[in-house]
Amino acid sequence: ATPTAVMVATGVGANNGVLIKGGDALERAQMVKYVIFDKTGTLTQGKATVTTVKVFTGMERGEFLTLVASAEVTSNFSMIILLSESYFLSTASSEHPLGKAILQYARHFHFFDESSTTNGTLNDAKELSSGWLHDVSDFSALPGRGVQCFIDGKRILVGNRKLLSENGIDISTEVENFVVELEESAKTGILVAYDDVLTGVLGVADPLKREASVVIDGLHKMGVIPVMVTGDNWRTARAVAKELGIQDVRAEVMPAGKADVVRSFQKDGSVVAMVGDGINDSPALAAADVGMAIGAGTDIAIEAADYVLMRYNLEDVITAIDLSRKTFSRIR
Ligand code: ADP
Ligand code: MG
Repeated sequence: ATPTAVMVATGVGANNGVLIKGGDALERAQMVKYVIFDKTGTLTQGKATVTTVKVFTGMERGEFLTLVASAEVTSNFSMIILLSESYFLSTASSEHPLGKAILQYARHFHFFDESSTTNGTLNDAKELSSGWLHDVSDFSALPGRGVQCFIDGKRILVGNRKLLSENGIDISTEVENFVVELEESAKTGILVAYDDVLTGVLGVADPLKREASVVIDGLHKMGVIPVMVTGDNWRTARAVAKELGIQDVRAEVMPAGKADVVRSFQKDGSVVAMVGDGINDSPALAAADVGMAIGAGTDIAIEAADYVLMRYNLEDVITAIDLSRKTFSRIR
């Protein structure tokens, strides 16, 4: 391709909200064999909502939700600090989608005011004056696992099985069966231990992006193999992948492990694209031959990527590969 063709393609991309950082990036995209997608916020909308709350002890439902929300509010801050210390120096103020969903649900439970308008709304004034959240101490966010903190000297753990088992919390068959049922319907089960006793479980659903299936089909037709990588558990990951027709899934991957997944696909010389949105995905975006940050994303993800897909639409993954193929018009 001539320099002019590259310039034209870059312009066409920009008009479609596909920002390409240079001619090399444009050229590499035509050779992509695998496209590795992050699950949460990339294939899914990243708008998790709590669909199920089950308390397994005598604790009152409202008190259970207050405890969990208190732990998650703190996590939204500490997660950022932890990430910035271990990977980058970041001032990004993103919240963990699961924490956000839980906080929102608890607020709704306590402060939803049906009489205020026709549809009802959250009563902010009532919330602000109530000081309903507990004071939390010694909190830590454990990426890929969940959060831990203390409320009135009692430990509270909110997260996945790994978090609870690493802390010696017993998961009964009844609880395990309940979590398995959630996971088989593509939901994430969040387990809560209070004072070292398994107290309850929340089910969280994060809907797929509307265009996700079409894009996966499209990639298959182009001879490109889609892969999904996630920190979420295997059962949920498989259920989501099945809905989309993705055969190759890597689940329970710790944040730093996503880049290793990228490298494992590069081993035989294959050209690998990674599509992600979060801070967690930045090392993988940097490791990929073609890193694609989707949406406004975080600054760090955008920095690490070769492509920025501004429209928050997965169809632009196909647009980007097409544009490269047409520009370099390889005979295949
Ligand atoms: P992803 O790769 O999908 O963005 P993460 O690595 O952020 O996932 O998290 C992986 C898993 O760790 C989650 O599915 C959840 O089970 C648990 N987890 C992480 N952070 C939290 C949190 N703040 N509250 C509850 N669970 C969490
Ligand atoms: Mg993510």
